[in-house]
Amino acid sequence: MTPAAPAQPGPPLWLLAELTHRCPLHCVFCYNPVDYATQPDELGTEDWLRVLREARALGAVQLGLSGGEPLLREDLEALVAEARRLGFYSNLLTSGVGLTEARAAALKDAGLDHVQLSFQDSTPQMNDFLSHTRTFELKQRVAATIRAQGWPMVMNVVLHRLNIDHVDRIIGMAHALGAEYLELANTQYYSWAWVNRDQLLPTREQLRRAEAVTEAWRARLDGAMRIFFVAPDYHEGRPKKCVNGWGSMFLTVAPDGTALPCHTARMLPGLPFPNVRAHGLAAIWRDSEGFQRFRGTGWMKEPCRSCAQREEDLGGCRCQAWLLAQDASAADPVCVKSPHHGRVQAALQRAEAAGAAAGPREQPLVFRSPAESRRLAAAAGPDRARPRDLP
Ligand code: SF4
Ligand code: SF4
Repeated sequence: MTPAAPAQPGPPLWLLAELTHRCPLHCVFCYNPVDYATQPDELGTEDWLRVLREARALGAVQLGLSGGEPLLREDLEALVAEARRLGFYSNLLTSGVGLTEARAAALKDAGLDHVQLSFQDSTPQMNDFLSHTRTFELKQRVAATIRAQGWPMVMNVVLHRLNIDHVDRIIGMAHALGAEYLELANTQYYSWAWVNRDQLLPTREQLRRAEAVTEAWRARLDGAMRIFFVAPDYHEGRPKKCVNGWGSMFLTVAPDGTALPCHTARMLPGLPFPNVRAHGLAAIWRDSEGFQRFRGTGWMKEPCRSCAQREEDLGGCRCQAWLLAQDASAADPVCVKSPHHGRVQAALQRAEAAGAAAGPREQPLVFRSPAESRRLAAAAGPDRARPRDLP
């Protein structure tokens, strides 16, 4: 039976349904787990339908349908239709591969509200190099399909050392494609971006130029296209409030049914996360150890515990604390007050030394693929949560 829709919105307000980790692209910064190819089977349609109902009953109002590439799921239209029936605002996050005109029309009929299309860069050469697929022309066609269906044209480009100098062209391309909203998201260094961090971290000068170019476009466009520039926390010295607060707004369900407060949290060792195959979402959200552990500020130690900013950033990202300090309860090392901040500075110094001139051909980049995933998982051994050693 369908639970009644709640009188009040959440928390959680957002359900991020990671429908699959399969993806035809091979992005070097991919946020999917490095060992994704070794993870168990995906949830079936009935399980996903139940997750949608339970999340809506809890108060979730926004639904992100992501992946991997969610269009690889043949039941996507059925999930969208149920989301519409339940009253979700649904958002498809896609590389564009598989969004044919027929599929777009079917998703529109099913009630899909919003599509976010990702590009890797502004030219076929760089887009196709960074995703290791020939998808640039396809993405251009998909952008037209999105507009033809009357969806808001929303584009996302992940920025890093290899494409950040192309921001002018990227914004120009988004404008020419009729984007209403462009997200320029600087890479967050976990998952595949962590593996490739020394090849992807931009220099300070690259960042400064990109921000200046973005500002100039904002002034020129005068609101005709909104541009959101997500600053990189490594360079800022101030951490971001991780997922707007652990277990406070976002609920992610991974393809295998693991429920997470943040899509990368399963890397944290010794922290059990429940599976929706065995537990209801309400109990998971309210009572599970995985969702309780870093809620609020009670878990903090120094320097966060006595810090005046602790309510503002909640100590930053737990995954970053684990990756950089091997302590998930530590202050996020991007913070200048963290005793581990030197590791962030060292990475930044290496980026400065490598400089903007380093081209992709000289870089030993690791492209995401099932074979690389299995190789990296095997190299990590049985303790897969251990961060890969970096200088
Ligand atoms: S970041 Fe790239 S490889 Fe990863 S899921 Fe998105 S499109 Fe696929
Ligand atoms: S010490 Fe902790 S709470 Fe204070 S600014 Fe740094 S990360 Fe945030």
